Amino acid sequence: MVQKIDHIGIAVKNLEESLKFYENVLGLKAAGTEVVEEQKVKVAFLPTGDSEVELLEPTSEDSPIAKFIAKNGEGVQHMAYRVENIEAAIAEMKEKGIRMIDEKPRYGAGGAKIAFCHPKSTGGVLIEICQR
Ligand code: ZN
Repeated sequence: MVQKIDHIGIAVKNLEESLKFYENVLGLKAAGTEVVEEQKVKVAFLPTGDSEVELLEPTSEDSPIAKFIAKNGEGVQHMAYRVENIEAAIAEMKEKGIRMIDEKPRYGAGGAKIAFCHPKSTGGVLIEICQR
């Protein structure tokens, strides 16, 4: 089902501040930023070889990322696996008893179709599946 690790999502308080570390220290380069209204986040993708790092800054207090930071502090928030057909992947996961946060794909940054699996079904990791 999975083609590769698409990206790793990292919750940050301030995108501009965080970019300094990724760009100046690690030497990665942000491929633009985008506000995803539906999830109340501003994101930056940093291509890293075959995968990407996704930095997520909350744009509102009730953003899932704001809640994550309030509870855990900044850090790794989710892991995203790329699939070829997200509808088929969701159906297969449900069939295998995985609890889905999203039963239907929703809009993700860069025009991807994404769906989250509940960490209770995945050994504690918030897993995103995404189709580009
Ligand atoms: Zn993501």
